[in-house]
Amino acid sequence: MTEAESRPAWSVLPDEWKPLLAARGLRPFRADQILHSLYRDWITDWDAATTLPKEFRETLKAEFPLRVPEVLAQDRAEDGTVKLLLGLSDGNTVETVVIPAKGRFTQCVSTQVGCAMGCVFCASGSRGLVRSLEADEIVAQVMTAQRLFASPENRRQGSGLCLTNLVVMGMGEPFLNYDATLRALKLLNAGKGPNLGARHITLSTCGVVPGFAKLAAEGYQFELSVSLHAPNDELRSRLMPVNRRWPVDELLAACADYTRATGRVITFEYTLVKGVNDSRACAEELVRRLRRLPSCKVNLIPLSPVDHRPDLETPDEATQLAFLDVLMKGRIQTMLRRSRGKDVAAACGQLRVRMENGK
Ligand code: SAH
Repeated sequence: MTEAESRPAWSVLPDEWKPLLAARGLRPFRADQILHSLYRDWITDWDAATTLPKEFRETLKAEFPLRVPEVLAQDRAEDGTVKLLLGLSDGNTVETVVIPAKGRFTQCVSTQVGCAMGCVFCASGSRGLVRSLEADEIVAQVMTAQRLFASPENRRQGSGLCLTNLVVMGMGEPFLNYDATLRALKLLNAGKGPNLGARHITLSTCGVVPGFAKLAAEGYQFELSVSLHAPNDELRSRLMPVNRRWPVDELLAACADYTRATGRVITFEYTLVKGVNDSRACAEELVRRLRRLPSCKVNLIPLSPVDHRPDLETPDEATQLAFLDVLMKGRIQTMLRRSRGKDVAAACGQLRVRMENGK
């Protein structure tokens, strides 16, 4: 056997198994059995791969560990949303949210422990970045939900996956952990892997511009969301420090290029904060800005309250509807989203690094 480094099993793309086995002097035909065990039987322990010889399972344990996170807490909101707190192998924790709905089962995954971006209304960044997740730690969030929530009723034909949709909208900025995030998404999308359709996978970025062209060049059909939250630089820079590096014009140009290159329509997220970005003037300016794009959609999200900024409040419903109305009249396709899971702090922007004392 060669001295090849060990690789977490949930970071290996289906096509990579054969060469990796061969490089270790192992029989490449085992790749199909491995893939079946991982992504049809959904094992979380190599000993459960009973189609494989015992000795081979021991080799897999050493060379391709399954890094199963520990479920440290499970909070169920009144609306059925469940937030999981997962313990990683180095003692760090991440949160992931599963959102069951009629005929749909969406999961929101994190890409980093904490976040460096410092958007003022977001709890994830309130303590800065601890570290980026590795690809298998992103995939492991899905595996954990699969283990906890898959049932004969909700398993999908073919792979037996219970999820129907994945949103990369948890903690962290995916474009600042680009390689691991893309590897995880390619794995989850792979036919011989979990086989989750690319159009059912949505990545959300706060506007890290170099990520757009990179993603377009991948040639995947992933959906892209962009957190905009303000129609101009003056306001956006106050809410999102990332805007000082990549201002609105540059961001929207990158969005237009992305749409031209991929044919995919970008969705802009706009969190409504009372008295800050919810005025009629903001809505009108947003319409003027967005009308210049080839096409786009807008998701309005009323602010979810966050502990670290009690001064930031949710606008009342009349204000939300008035903002929506301006966008609709401006012929911008817009949805007013109800955030889910608020009573367990699982809504947009409420995921955060939790310390041992739970604070
Ligand atoms: N870093 C990526 C992924 C996070 S997605 C991004 O910024 O897009 C989470 C979404 O929730 C983002 O649009 C974010 O701006 C939004 N959000 C953050 N804090 C929020 C809050 N308190 N209320 C509502 N939405 C919030």
